[in-house]
Amino acid sequence: MIDLKDIIHHYDSNTAVSLPDLKVESGDELLVIGLSGSGKSTLLHILAGVLKPTKGILSVNGTDLYKLSESKRDAFRGKQIGVIFQQMHLIDSLTVTDNLKLAQFMAGVKVNAGKIKDLCMELDITDKMHSYPDELSQGQKQRVSIARAVVNEPSLLLADEPTSSLDDKRSEDVIALLKRMAERTGSTLIISTHDSRVKGHFTNVLNLDGKQEEAV
Ligand code: ADP
Ligand code: MG
Repeated sequence: MIDLKDIIHHYDSNTAVSLPDLKVESGDELLVIGLSGSGKSTLLHILAGVLKPTKGILSVNGTDLYKLSESKRDAFRGKQIGVIFQQMHLIDSLTVTDNLKLAQFMAGVKVNAGKIKDLCMELDITDKMHSYPDELSQGQKQRVSIARAVVNEPSLLLADEPTSSLDDKRSEDVIALLKRMAERTGSTLIISTHDSRVKGHFTNVLNLDGKQEEAV
């Protein structure tokens, strides 16, 4: 379960996120909505364990993430949290396969080429497994970043605005894909969006609009 308590984040004097209480049960889905600047990316970075909030507690399956040392938190993230950020951060000097192998290696799990192949098949990128990221279309890059996020079967899968640059059909496909990936491994799925097309796919919705003003 994800449990956020009294989370506040300031970058400078402005409050970017203020959330008194948020719980998401294991295996559940949550859609985080809000206008640009409402704090969606900030919240997802906090949930991913890469941005320590100014105040508050984040517990993921009973582990208080920001009480861990940075190296323990990195290890925890590698095994338990899969992230698809807006900037995909694929390693340009490595092929698709090697980017995925690196994700396994970094998490300290056994490099498993068979699993990578199966995943690429499911994501329809088998013909690109030996290509480099800059040889891929945006959609293909995004599927590689989804593959990388799910390759270690994380208990928490996060995606920041995964559909913002996609047309309606591809947007539907990506949401369905993320849901399928999360369901298969029983992962909690948290997606952020300002894209109203996505709303109909989720029953559990958190709207961040106006939250910063409330905190001031
Ligand atoms: P969203 O993803 O909903 O567009 P963000 O979380 O990116 O919102 O931003 C929330 C607020 O925090 C905005 O006012 C933004 O300008 C500010 N902000 C985001 N990142 C930084 C940063 N690295 N330094 C200073 N302010 C930031
Ligand atoms: Mg954002």
